[in-house]
Amino acid sequence: MQAKMQVKLLDLVRQYEKMRDEIGAALDEVFSSQQFILNGKVAELEKRIASFCGVRRAVGVASGSDALLISLMALGIGPRDEVVTTPYTFFSTASAITRLGAHPVFVDIDPRTYNIDPAGVRAALTSRTKAVLVVHLFGQMCDMNPILRAASGRGIPVIEDACQAIGSAYRGRSAGSVGRAGCFSFFPTKNLGGCGDGGMIVTDDRDLAERARSLRVHGSRKRYFHEAVGINSRLDEIQAAVLSVKLRYLAEWNGRRRAHAAFYDEALGGLDGIVTPHAESNVHHTYHQYVIRAGRRDELMEFLRRRGVGCEIYYPVPLHLQECFAFLGGERGDLPEAERAAAEALALPVYPELTEQEQEYVVARIREFVTKRRGSAPDADKRMPSG
Ligand SMILES: *Cc1c(COP(=O)(O)O)cnc(C)c1O
Repeated sequence: MQAKMQVKLLDLVRQYEKMRDEIGAALDEVFSSQQFILNGKVAELEKRIASFCGVRRAVGVASGSDALLISLMALGIGPRDEVVTTPYTFFSTASAITRLGAHPVFVDIDPRTYNIDPAGVRAALTSRTKAVLVVHLFGQMCDMNPILRAASGRGIPVIEDACQAIGSAYRGRSAGSVGRAGCFSFFPTKNLGGCGDGGMIVTDDRDLAERARSLRVHGSRKRYFHEAVGINSRLDEIQAAVLSVKLRYLAEWNGRRRAHAAFYDEALGGLDGIVTPHAESNVHHTYHQYVIRAGRRDELMEFLRRRGVGCEIYYPVPLHLQECFAFLGGERGDLPEAERAAAEALALPVYPELTEQEQEYVVARIREFVTKRRGSAPDADKRMPSG
């Protein structure tokens, strides 16, 4: 038996150690200037991200959540409007909608990709639908063409929550560049993470970009003149400086994530009770998370954690079943694929700096679980006492 190892789900220290000097220099520039809000660093990062995604405009904001909120505000979404979205995502995809008084209309997911089902989107559109907010979950883009066809026929904009998909592509088009606007998060654990919160909106739509630029500074284009009731949501110079350094490595990091995923696919494919992630052939998947399905997910998670393997459930409760959205009337059984994913999905370590030895350890522990449990029924410990 291999000695016990600790394999974290994510270890950002390894990344930092390789770029300590570069980040130090970037931070020193900002501190030396003592200009922390909307100075040159944010504008420079906006340019770089726009060009990285192949769009004309980018607007730095305080978080991915605010990128979503401001995009919807810029589209004029408000009370009683409907926004079609997925229940299987991080919370703020839907809270951005409800904070504006609009209603999320949850559409079930495709069980193979975990992304919103395009046929479901088409069926959910009504005269009150003001936007479709899709999420490219775990680093894999949605099947955008049928979604765009369904929405644009009715003049409904599609917004991409690309917080988990920076650097991903669909039919050669970058995440964030396919819909009316794309939203990124630079939360530290994302594929491109800052040293705190940060986010960005990317778009080719000049009006939308200008409205977003105004909304992030209290709805003003000219200082102390307010055209709209905006918010305070700026990306700060320190984040932008760090992110500009890290952006240079993003393609390489995403490449490593893909290589790690290929390793797991090979080693775990075909194991009893384990389903490896499905990647569509027309998608460049960047594996923000490497998520397997396991029939006995909770047991497997416990087993792995005890043996030092970091793993996590994304997401244990689909949004239509969250307490705060009870007023929408969602019930168990409404969206069976999202509910099943919530019960079966398990994310394994896939970060770029993960070593081969660590990956082998993760694989060996999963194999051990599968072998030990073979033949024992899922409810073996709950057998009726025989008298
Ligand atoms: C991280 C994330 C967000 C929110 O980003 P923050 O920067 O944490 O506000 C929104 N949607 C998805 C899908 C995310 O993964």
